[in-house]
Amino acid sequence: MVGQIELRCRCGEVRGIVADPSPRSVNRVVCYCDDCQAYAHQLGRPDLLNEKGGSDIVQLAPAALSFTKGQDRIAGLRLSPKGLYRWYAKCCNTPVGNTMGPTLPFVGIPVQSFDTTRPDDCFGAPVAEIFGKSAVGEPPAGSTRFNPAMFLRAIGKVIGWRLRGKTWPHPFFARDTRAPIYPVTVISHERREALRAVCGPHPTAQAVP
Ligand SMILES: [Zn+2]
Ligand SMILES: [Zn+2]
Repeated sequence: MVGQIELRCRCGEVRGIVADPSPRSVNRVVCYCDDCQAYAHQLGRPDLLNEKGGSDIVQLAPAALSFTKGQDRIAGLRLSPKGLYRWYAKCCNTPVGNTMGPTLPFVGIPVQSFDTTRPDDCFGAPVAEIFGKSAVGEPPAGSTRFNPAMFLRAIGKVIGWRLRGKTWPHPFFARDTRAPIYPVTVISHERREALRAVCGPHPTAQAVP
């Protein structure tokens, strides 16, 4: 039990608090999908990816996260008109939460965005590696097949959060209108396609200009 943990962007302008983190209250996975890779590259933050392009993501209930500072620096990015809302701190391009709309209540945050040197104590170790088909080079063992246990665990968490009223207050959506609180940009189709060159399984470029 750590009580709470601080989320902070790299430069410290944007900060938030996650109440009562524990391995049981979150779902932590390493995601190799090419959307997560493209997002890190779009932000100029490939440093957040592991050597195979994986993002270490902590999924938690929306109501567990609240921002305490720098809300005016938060913006959203979508890789397509129907893609996830990927929220980040504009000051230093730190991801601060991936979400769908409030109907499917979860927030996925890269573990590096938390102010701790011992994330395993707060969240447990990752329970799965997923979407390994897009991993850079050889996929991690077990990451390419469908993982029913992980899938059920993730869905169970989201349904539980919804039933227990953990959608609201949502850190990124207004309760009355269900609209995003922060400005959202959808990247162009051309840009999305260009990002594929730097993502797995076989990147053909080091960086997108
Ligand atoms: Zn910052
Ligand atoms: Zn992903």
